[in-house]
Amino acid sequence: MLVLLRRIMALAWDHKYSAIPVLIVTVATQLLMLASAIGQGLAIDVIRATADQNAPEPSWPLGIQPPASWSFTATIASIGAVVLLLSIVSGAGRFAQRYTDEWFSQRCVIDLRTRLYRKLQRLDFSFFDDHDTGQVINRFTSDVQAVRAFMQGVMIRLVIALVTLGVFLVFMLRESALLTVVCMVALPIQFIVIWHYGRSTKPKFKVQAELVDGLIHKLQEAIAGIRVIRAFGRAREQTAGFDEAAAEARDQRIRLSKSVGTHIPMIQAGGMLTAAVLLGVGGWLVLQNQQAAEAAAASGGVRASDVGITLGALWVFRSLLLQLSGQVETIIFVFAQAPEAFAGADRIFGFLDEEVRIDQPAAPVDSARPSGEIAFENVGFAYPDGPPVLENVSFTIHPGETVAIVGRTGSGKSTLLSLIARFHDPTEGRVLLDGVDVREWSLDALRGHLGYVFQETFLFSNTVHNNVAFGPVQLERDAVRAATDAAQATDFINELDGGFDTIIGERGMDLSGGQRQRLTIARALANDPKILILDDALTAVDPITETRIQEALDPLRRDRTTIIVAHRLSTLRRADRIVVLDAGRVVGVGTHRELMSEKGHYREAALIQLAMDEHPDAEPAEGGRQ
Ligand code: ATP
Ligand code: MG
Repeated sequence: MLVLLRRIMALAWDHKYSAIPVLIVTVATQLLMLASAIGQGLAIDVIRATADQNAPEPSWPLGIQPPASWSFTATIASIGAVVLLLSIVSGAGRFAQRYTDEWFSQRCVIDLRTRLYRKLQRLDFSFFDDHDTGQVINRFTSDVQAVRAFMQGVMIRLVIALVTLGVFLVFMLRESALLTVVCMVALPIQFIVIWHYGRSTKPKFKVQAELVDGLIHKLQEAIAGIRVIRAFGRAREQTAGFDEAAAEARDQRIRLSKSVGTHIPMIQAGGMLTAAVLLGVGGWLVLQNQQAAEAAAASGGVRASDVGITLGALWVFRSLLLQLSGQVETIIFVFAQAPEAFAGADRIFGFLDEEVRIDQPAAPVDSARPSGEIAFENVGFAYPDGPPVLENVSFTIHPGETVAIVGRTGSGKSTLLSLIARFHDPTEGRVLLDGVDVREWSLDALRGHLGYVFQETFLFSNTVHNNVAFGPVQLERDAVRAATDAAQATDFINELDGGFDTIIGERGMDLSGGQRQRLTIARALANDPKILILDDALTAVDPITETRIQEALDPLRRDRTTIIVAHRLSTLRRADRIVVLDAGRVVGVGTHRELMSEKGHYREAALIQLAMDEHPDAEPAEGGRQ
């Protein structure tokens, strides 16, 4: 808890200079408030002294007294004018206070979100394997808000409350130490109640945040999977599931409100107790003052005394106390938010502390243009808590070579490719680029040399041009055009209404599966990468387009290393060598011709395709698609 508090405060401390204007404005506003209350108290004493010959004389603050020639009306009107002016200025002060306050807290929010986002971009893929989208999104939204409210509370409100308390206390103690002490009787009780509230609700807030995670996750999945849900007629069940999760979150919120509901009245009761005590003790002090003044007048002196307080002073006390109880409520509010903020901070810092296992090495190797030799040395890999996916994989891809990787679905092909880009690191053995372990390469350089086409196409909500020119290098239209030419995409792009400037993706035009796939190929080619990785990148295009893409790629492949996961024989035949994977092991390496002459998985699968090509009407043989 203390560690969390320290870390939250350290975050707020980074923005200490933004907090200065808030503090200045606030202290000024509170002083104006105090002056206005004193003015009102003075008016009461003036009225009383005029109305009642026995009442004590008003005591003029700072010895500022109107000339004796002024009439009662003139005196009261002047005091009224000053009070009015003070109120107007302090009204403006309150506006400035809100404004500067928001300015400070928004800076904190943006800073926190930026830190989270930076971390998000650095975290390795295994993090996303075991955290769902809901958890991550909630950290950016509710958790950040909870922490912001607390930082704002502590940095600003608490400080303001303490400053006000200090200023008022000095004034109150000067007027009457007894009354001041009496007014504080309820404070300890109020703080005990708050403390208890904090302790009992922190775990509940954590549960609440997790329930909201689940809700966001369900929502996100419902949006992403809307087609499947509708097609399978599962809308009702999905809605019921969502309702259930929403109800659970609601119930937890209600449990929390109950906790707030039982604690707040106790705190307010404390405030009322203070008011009662003020009236009782204050009233008695006013009477004391009156009697002393009368006695002084009777013995021939001035009608005034230092015993007790005047009615005006009691009024000032009451105003200050109202202000103070507002401030105390603020402090209470800060403490009341603490459990939620701590729960949020716990999750945020947990995320920020998440270990980045795949990161820039200490002494990164860089090379402007590597030869493109890739070697796997006894590579083994398993996903966290999973069975081995790759075992003892060893082979070398020479510069400029095209190697195809084939194997049954789930045999580990995509996983193998992901090790080259360091989306994961092998659990055993090494992957080398140009004879250097990829873990020693500068991450940016390594990934910059790769043109990666993922098995799952993903395009951004942006123009066609920007989707293709997505890499780190600023690309001209011609370079983009060359890439789309090779990917056989230029024709269909030109047919789009806006051509290369058409917005595609979630917020724009929807493209067909094959069109999307061709854009991702163009994106991989656009940066002229030394190594081209195509993971099942041609599955969605028709055979004629596939052949055209292959032909366009042929000259481009000449001076780059190409690794291609494919099933179709037409593609496999073009490869210099083929690596056959089975259950994470290499079971064959060779050219199409060589592999066909050996008995095994490859030959079997190839023969099925050949039979289909020669006898298109024949029933498919056992074994299905490779
Ligand atoms: P396909 O031809 O269907 O694309 P593949 O050969 O590319 O298959 P991989 O995606 O590499 O196969 O998956 C290999 C194995 O690893 C599978 O058993 C799969 O269940 C598992 N696997 C893949 N991704 C993950 C992941 N993120 N977390 C845990 N296990 C995974
Ligand atoms: Mg795959």
